[in-house]
Amino acid sequence: MAYVISDECVSCGACEAECPVNAISEGDDKYVIDADTCIDCGTCAATCPNGAISEG
Ligand code: SF4
Repeated sequence: MAYVISDECVSCGACEAECPVNAISEGDDKYVIDADTCIDCGTCAATCPNGAISEG
């Protein structure tokens, strides 16, 4: 399992720098989490000001 970013994402970028394994990158219309890299730590979910990140 990996965390996922929903359409609530407004591409603020707050999560990207917080991920300890650099699994987050900017996609076409929102940020995306690479499922193979994510270690399910949950740091990004706690960082998102929009509540857009949850366990997939
Ligand atoms: Fe990165 Fe942790 Fe979020 Fe996975 S849960 S994308 S490892 S910050």
